[in-house]
Amino acid sequence: MTRIAVLPGDGVGPEIVREAVKVLRRIGVLFDIPLTFEEGVVGGAAIDQCGTPLPPETWSLCRAADAILFGAVGGPKWDSLPVDCRPERGLLRLRKELGLYANLRPVKLFAPLVDTSPLKREIIEGVDLLVLRELTGGLYFGEPKGIGPAPDGKGEQGIDTLSYTTHEIERIARIGFQIAAQRRKRLTSVDKVNVLASSQLWRRVVAETAREFPDIELDHMLVDNCAMQLIRDPRRFDVVLTENTFGDILSDEAAMIVGSIGMLPSASLGDGPGLYEPIHGSAPDIAGQDKANPLATILSAAMLLRHTLHREPAAAAVEAAVSRVLEAWYRTPDIRQPGPTTLVGTAQMGDLVIERIVKDCEK
Ligand code: NAD
Repeated sequence: MTRIAVLPGDGVGPEIVREAVKVLRRIGVLFDIPLTFEEGVVGGAAIDQCGTPLPPETWSLCRAADAILFGAVGGPKWDSLPVDCRPERGLLRLRKELGLYANLRPVKLFAPLVDTSPLKREIIEGVDLLVLRELTGGLYFGEPKGIGPAPDGKGEQGIDTLSYTTHEIERIARIGFQIAAQRRKRLTSVDKVNVLASSQLWRRVVAETAREFPDIELDHMLVDNCAMQLIRDPRRFDVVLTENTFGDILSDEAAMIVGSIGMLPSASLGDGPGLYEPIHGSAPDIAGQDKANPLATILSAAMLLRHTLHREPAAAAVEAAVSRVLEAWYRTPDIRQPGPTTLVGTAQMGDLVIERIVKDCEK
C-alpha cells in the first residue's frame, strides 16, 4: 500500500489538489495500484489552525509517507508576518528537512497549446526541456540571513547568503547528467560566474563531474543570457541545471513557452519521500472561483506515479489524457484561445481528464 500525504495548503491549493487526488484514485483502481491518502494542514491554513506553518502532525505524516502531494502556500492574509514565520516556511522546512535537493521541472509544450503562448509558433513548436533546480541550498537557506542594524548605523540591513558546497553541487550535477543521459544528452549549466564566487565553484564542480559522463554534451551559460535564450530559442535546451533562485525564476519564465504557469508540474526528489507540486503559487486572485487550472497538479501526480511508484504506463496514461482533453479544445481561463474553445472550471477539467483516462483504458 502506498501512503500519499496530501497537503492542499492555501488559495487555489485545495481546489487543484482535489482534482489530482480524484485522478490518482481512479488510476489506482484502473492500474491496480493500492493507494491511501491522508490529509495534513500546511502553510497559512496551518498558521490559522495551529500557529505554525508546519505542525508536528503534518511533519510526522510526511515523514511516514511514500510521497507527498502538495498544492501551494501563502497569500495576502499572512504577508505581514516576518519572513521566518510565513506560510512559505512550511514548504521550505519540508524540502530542507526531507533532503529534497533535486527539483525537476519539465517544460513540455502540449501541441494543442501552441497558439496559447504569447511566443511565436515557429519558436516554441516541439519545446521539451527540463529545468533541474537545486532546492536546498543557495539564497533560500544560506547563513547569515536576516534583518539587523546597518553597519553604518543608518537604519537596517537585510542579508541573504548565497552559499554552495562542493558536495551540494556535485550531487545535483550528477542527477542532471543522469537525467540528460535518458533524454537528448545535452546539459546546460547556468550560473553567474562573472560575478559570484558560488558560481565559480559551481562551474568548476559541474565541469569536473562531467568527466564521469563523457556521452553528455555540456555547456555553461550565464543566467542573464539564459533568460534571453529561453525566449529566443527554447528548443536549443535539453536539461537546464541551475541553483535555487535562478531555477525558480527561469522556470516561471519558461511557463510562458507552454502557455500558462497552470501547466507546469514538478517533482522534488532526494533523501526523503518525493514531493510533487505545481510550480505556481496559491494564486489568491482566483482562489475559490473554480478558475484555477488543475493540470499542473494533475501532471505532478503523473510525476509521482513515474518517480516514486515507477509505474510508467499509469503516468503516461495521465499525460496522454491531458493531451487529448486539450486537443478536444477544453480550456480553463488561463489557456483560453480563439477557436472552438469550451471554457471549463477547475473541477470539470479534472472530470474530463478522468473520463479520458477511463475511455483510453477501455480500448
Ligand atoms: P502565483 O503563481 O500564485 O500567481 C501568479 C499568476 O499566475 C496569478 O495571476 C495567478 O492567478 C496565475 N496562476 C497561478 N496558478 C494558476 C493556475 N493553476 N491556473 C490559472 N492561473 C494561475 O504567484 P504570486 O501571485 O506571485 O504568489 C501568490 C502567493 O503564492 C504568494 O503568497 C507567494 O508567496 C505564494 N507562492 C507559493 C508557492 C508555493 O507554494 N510553492 C510558489 C510561488 C508563490
